Amino acid sequence: MAQEPRRDDGGGPQDDCLFCKIVAGHIPATLVRESDTTVAFRDINPQAPTHILLIPRVHYPDAATLAAAEPAVAADLLRAAGEIAGEEKLESYRIVFNTGSGAGQTVFHAHAHLLGGRGMQWPPG
Ligand code: AMP
Ligand code: ZN
Repeated sequence: MAQEPRRDDGGGPQDDCLFCKIVAGHIPATLVRESDTTVAFRDINPQAPTHILLIPRVHYPDAATLAAAEPAVAADLLRAAGEIAGEEKLESYRIVFNTGSGAGQTVFHAHAHLLGGRGMQWPPG
């Protein structure tokens, strides 16, 4: 396969990023859907009966940075989350963007958690 073009304007693949490796197909994942701009796959350590991660193909460290740089891709991510929630028959669900290690972010490639299929507490822990 052709080498990804190098992007110096942000968004280019990072060698040490787990989710860039999933986007590239170098690490396997249980894919739920793919588009030109996003990839969705099941979380390896699910916290609810449905726990799906949605990531942009481009690399940005968190959701707000993605939205500032490539708002159309951020919108694609949210639209896909809603469509998948429908496919998973979730009447209620939560979309979570952990941002910063203090909030539980462990992978610094923007991602949405789509969680559903059980009751949930508010506020979250
Ligand atoms: P966060 O803690 O918000 O950064 O979310 C990272 C998520 O990635 C966690 O819920 C992990 O369980 C999940 N995760 C880590 N490695 C993998 C993997 N190889 N495949 C699927 N999910 C993963
Ligand atoms: Zn990445």
